[in-house]
Amino acid sequence: MKPAKRLLAAVLAALLALSLAACQKDGEKVNIPANQTSTDDFQKNLHQSDKGSFLETDAGYYFTYGSLYFIAKDTGTATIVCAKPDCDHTDDSICNAHIHADYLLTGGEILYYVGYVNGSTQPKLVYSVKNDATDRQTVQELKYNETSTSRSSKDTAIYHRGYIYYVSDDILYRVKLGGEKDSAEIIWSPENAGATQSYGGMVQFNPNAIRYTLWAEEDTLYFMANVQTNDGTYKDVLFRCDLNDLSVKQIWATPGADEVGEWETTGVCVSQWYVTDGYIYFYLSGGDMWRAELATGELTRLADTHEKMKYGSAIFSDEYMALLNDMPTDSYGNFAIGGIFRTNADTIYLYGLDGSFIKEISLKKLLADLGEGLEIDLLMCDSTDVYFLTTGYTYDDPNSPTLATGRTITLCRANVETGDVLKLYKLQ
Ligand SMILES: [Zn+2]
Repeated sequence: MKPAKRLLAAVLAALLALSLAACQKDGEKVNIPANQTSTDDFQKNLHQSDKGSFLETDAGYYFTYGSLYFIAKDTGTATIVCAKPDCDHTDDSICNAHIHADYLLTGGEILYYVGYVNGSTQPKLVYSVKNDATDRQTVQELKYNETSTSRSSKDTAIYHRGYIYYVSDDILYRVKLGGEKDSAEIIWSPENAGATQSYGGMVQFNPNAIRYTLWAEEDTLYFMANVQTNDGTYKDVLFRCDLNDLSVKQIWATPGADEVGEWETTGVCVSQWYVTDGYIYFYLSGGDMWRAELATGELTRLADTHEKMKYGSAIFSDEYMALLNDMPTDSYGNFAIGGIFRTNADTIYLYGLDGSFIKEISLKKLLADLGEGLEIDLLMCDSTDVYFLTTGYTYDDPNSPTLATGRTITLCRANVETGDVLKLYKLQ
């Protein structure tokens, strides 16, 4: 290496160290208060992404992504939850932050979560840890994957008012937090879970791709599941369970193109949805922002998001929708409907739940900092901020863009008032 290049490398290394320091506000200790509290209700806005799991307390947010992290509300700073001195948080057997959590459930001083034994996914257990991630205890075992012939649905679990609601073998259960395994009640089950599946001769579950999304509000549990409807097609249907008597009723189905136009997954499922106060709000990538009244089914187009972008990803809070202008792509970054990647995003647009356009937040500075071609995944939003992950890849051979040799994942946040975009924590 020539001296000039060596100097450049040194300057780059120094700049990199500076940017990491700025990211974590070096020297500012993140305080994790011992006496935190949280609501007993399902936290709706925190459950809109498969990437990690969130739990809100009065002091901040807990977030799992491999390890456990905490974002303090007072300072806005994030930390990995491990108080061990000299721990570099890489050794699974030493680091406190490696709690093996799938779904954070509830808690304040003690955190409860569905997790797994190291190296195994069975049996499913509920654990607790103190909120500094020490003193892990087993709370209870869940009925899980007991139907051996079944094609298991995707695991999912939420907490609401004393109960854990979870799915296993296409069956939706609830059990009290701390309850006996066999006290689990079945909320909903296809007649023949895991085999040829029908329910009352009316609906038939798609055995290849059952996917439940759980939701709760006051004395109602909602769940979205893809079922075969009367016209023979599979589509996402919303069910409502009255938690007073556990009666279940189908209340809404993904609309057809004749009602809302074409979109990325026309007639199958909406791109993102959010239920609050008797309405389902939803976004159609390739279409627009809509709302349906659950009592009447009446559809209202809230915003013509086409003005800003054709495709995108959305998340909601009780106040607004955050819309990222990403597009479906193949592994080479080329536009492809049905592509498993989403890239080319550079802006977040905010719309009120009445459809009013609020503002746009540019991510271009962040992209310039972290690298073009970054993948961005919206996680959740609250009254002040939109949280998202960025994934950047490094390649030894720039001519083989599918063979990434390194990956950097950063937790970031965009402020809805100021539009400021901040890197919170480098997760990987
Ligand atoms: Zn550690």
